[in-house]
Amino acid sequence: MTDSSPVHAAKDLFVETSDGPRLLGSRCETCRAPYFPSSEACHNPDCDHSDIQPAHFGPHGTLWSVTVQNYPPPPPVVASDPYSPYAVGLVDLETDGLRVIGRLHVEDPASVKVGGPVELVLAPLGQGQDGHEVISWQFEPR
Ligand SMILES: [Zn+2]
Repeated sequence: MTDSSPVHAAKDLFVETSDGPRLLGSRCETCRAPYFPSSEACHNPDCDHSDIQPAHFGPHGTLWSVTVQNYPPPPPVVASDPYSPYAVGLVDLETDGLRVIGRLHVEDPASVKVGGPVELVLAPLGQGQDGHEVISWQFEPR
């Protein structure tokens, strides 16, 4: 019997916690600058001491911009087969000071409205080349 459990689209970018999914990044403890993906050093030119610590970001945000991916992206991006267009959004995460890109978890990509509240979810992107379902972070309108 083969293992058909879902796999994460990327390592060390998101995690499922007891409070739900979160993005994995880092924050400078000196100047509070957030980084996603995680950074090994603070890049704030006004910060005089880089003190990077792991941080969780999300789950609530506001959709700042949206577009529809109307054609299949090239590998290694995983998409449904047969392909169906999906929405990609830029999301301002509440309280975290970050603007993050992510696929939007919606039935109709044309129905998404800029300015609305969204919440971080983990959802399938499609099937990877090895047959496993691939999951990643996405944003779901609320
Ligand atoms: Zn700093």
